[in-house]
Amino acid sequence: MTFTLPPLPYEKNALVPYISEQTLEFHYGKHHQTYVTNLNNLVQGTENESKSLEDLIMLSHAKPEMLGVFNNAAQVWNHTFFWHCMKANGGGVPTGMVAEKINAAFGSYEKFAADFKQAALSQFGSGWAWLVQEGNELKITKTANADLPMAHQQKALLTCDVWEHAYYLDYQNRRADFVQTFLDHLVNWEFVNKNLG
Ligand code: MN
Repeated sequence: MTFTLPPLPYEKNALVPYISEQTLEFHYGKHHQTYVTNLNNLVQGTENESKSLEDLIMLSHAKPEMLGVFNNAAQVWNHTFFWHCMKANGGGVPTGMVAEKINAAFGSYEKFAADFKQAALSQFGSGWAWLVQEGNELKITKTANADLPMAHQQKALLTCDVWEHAYYLDYQNRRADFVQTFLDHLVNWEFVNKNLG
């Protein structure tokens, strides 16, 4: 199938002052678009051209000869998921079922936030911090480059992009400030609740 850049779930200036319109113009309009374009170029005219995005991710995972397909397909999925993980006036203490599950898994929201931030800061180089569901259990993980929970039999609930392109225009080298702002002001907990399986 021919992939297209999915619409953002909000305007490009919706997350100001925490994420600038300029960052979304580049991060969504250039980086995410480039992953879509690259993926189309890699699969069109091949035996995989009719596969879904998820099928492409799973069939290319851990296959060195398909690394390009995996990287671009996973980055298309990761970014679409990441945009939905944020909203204007988001962040802070969650409500709903995920709040109960976070308290059960980590003891408190504060401990969850500290552990999530630690995962995001300790990812060396490019990657992602995640809250995932594995079986009935909630876990915090981090992945390098394009890697993602579905390749590890985990269901993604929440992610924060910690590639430098996610924060450099607004926060320069201060990844910790970006991740703290993501937790305090941006997380869309309604979306996270919907992801619980
Ligand atoms: Mn990104």
